[in-house]
Amino acid sequence: MNGKYSRQELFAPIGEEGQRKIRNAKVFVMGAGALGSSSAEMLVRAGVGELTIVDRDIIEWTNLHRQQLYAEQDVVDQLPKAVAAKKRLTAINGDVRVTGIVADVTPENVEELITGHDLVIDGTDNIEIRLLMNDAAMKKGIPFFMGACVGSYGLSFPIGLEDSQPCLHCLLDTLPSQMMTCDTVGVISPIVVTTAARQVADVLKYLSGATSAPKLESADLWSGERSTIDVQALKKTDCPSCSDVRTYPFLDKRSTIRTAVLCGRDTVQLTYPASRQFELQAITESIEGAVTNLKRNPHLAVCQFSGHRIVLFRDGRILIHGTKDISAAKRIMASLLG
Ligand SMILES: [Zn+2]
Repeated sequence: MNGKYSRQELFAPIGEEGQRKIRNAKVFVMGAGALGSSSAEMLVRAGVGELTIVDRDIIEWTNLHRQQLYAEQDVVDQLPKAVAAKKRLTAINGDVRVTGIVADVTPENVEELITGHDLVIDGTDNIEIRLLMNDAAMKKGIPFFMGACVGSYGLSFPIGLEDSQPCLHCLLDTLPSQMMTCDTVGVISPIVVTTAARQVADVLKYLSGATSAPKLESADLWSGERSTIDVQALKKTDCPSCSDVRTYPFLDKRSTIRTAVLCGRDTVQLTYPASRQFELQAITESIEGAVTNLKRNPHLAVCQFSGHRIVLFRDGRILIHGTKDISAAKRIMASLLG
């Protein structure tokens, strides 16, 4: 042994026994953006046994100020985040078996992806994917260490450590709205690191066997406000994701259209699954009489409907501009396309 973890073992609440447990852990990092980069680096340095990191995007210049695993050459090389993350994490600590997966996490693949892991750490940037992961984690009995940040504000909450605690679905109505939508006001790296640090601290406590009750923690590094909230009372006895009668609604593969609120834009994206026919030309012809300002080319159609600018792409994506409300977007599309 080279003493790589000796200072961590010296920390009494972890000790040699805790380090052994950390060493045996298989962790799943959902997203290799800002939070995922930061969490993954800390967990790899801490010496977990295996780490899987999943992301669908490539690295862009706008990522570099806060996504600590990446450098300028990665942008030049147009590398997928999961590929560059694996390379960097393996260089940091060769003891850890790192797997990088370039994929979009969906109801179809989420359960298979997280199977075999001891915990999931949240590095995503939108509520839809968090709710999907929440349901998958609840179903599999795998703890989910939620984290989110925007601007200078961040919050974290470990889910699924005890049956009596609320899940993300239970808390949906009470969480601050900035968690519900993507970034429109920018973000500073200190809140990324702070939020990821809290997530990873909760992971290390969990792996070491600490028993303190999970709390929702939030911080605004600009105003200096911090809070620790006991949300135990917010557990819903009829929650479809964590109560005795569970339907896991966000895992329902029949809910065929995926949705996302786009970062930095007042826009909802709806995506038809590959299994459903999406013939742009036929659809454009069918809506012609109902919309205004219709313009089209072989790749997309743009129109105005119900006060919203709508873009339909040939690959099955539909952008509804002028709203961040997914339900409203779905209603608009249902009234347009049926
Ligand atoms: Zn719940």
